Amino acid sequence: MCISIFLAACAHSGGGDTPSAGKQSLKRDYWGHRPGPKGFRTVIIDAGHGGKDSGARGHGAVEKDLALDTAKRLKRKLAGKFKVVMIRSSDQFVDLDDRVAKANRYDSAILVSLHYNSSRSRSTRGPETYYWRVDSYSLAWRIQRELAKVSPSEYRSRGLVRRRLRLTRNTRIPSVLVELGYLTHASEARLCRSAGYRDRLASALAKAISEQRAHGDTGTGRLPRPIYKPLSKASDPPGS
Ligand SMILES: [Zn+2]
Repeated sequence: MCISIFLAACAHSGGGDTPSAGKQSLKRDYWGHRPGPKGFRTVIIDAGHGGKDSGARGHGAVEKDLALDTAKRLKRKLAGKFKVVMIRSSDQFVDLDDRVAKANRYDSAILVSLHYNSSRSRSTRGPETYYWRVDSYSLAWRIQRELAKVSPSEYRSRGLVRRRLRLTRNTRIPSVLVELGYLTHASEARLCRSAGYRDRLASALAKAISEQRAHGDTGTGRLPRPIYKPLSKASDPPGS
């Protein structure tokens, strides 16, 4: 709490942790305290994990493979409507900070990072969409709403979560991280292993992205309050 009050004070006085004292537009980019994106041209798709990093495993499913497959499906659905950039297109390891750096090369863009989840509890299930910045809220809201129509276990968008992660905090563009389902839940893992189900998930993501481009924040409710916290680091405790 003390840290966020200190940073808020610094930000308002134009100094401290901000990289661009006195420059309002850069400051808003740095914190992400601005309206959600509308009319953007580029969608950056980040298939989570890859190479030596397999991500979650469960019931015969491997996260890095399902994430890449879903990313390719989403790319095909967005092709012709958006410029699409893939952070990885093969079974390749990419460091999280390099993913952020690549995303930061684009303007008029959003980042959607795709993952599959795991839990110690075998009964935990359902898609979850993580955002941190104010400018990422409405995109996350739309994505979670569309996933709720596809997933039999999602109910009233309870999976919409505000969390400071490197991929939700450290980019300069609106960014969301989507956990599409729990591989540790037997029946959800079975669904996630099905190409038809992953295709429906990709269609839901594509619909939410297109609606965000057309409507921005309209119809998604009140924007969340700005929170002043520093960039996320690898050494931060999980979920902080
Ligand atoms: Zn993951």
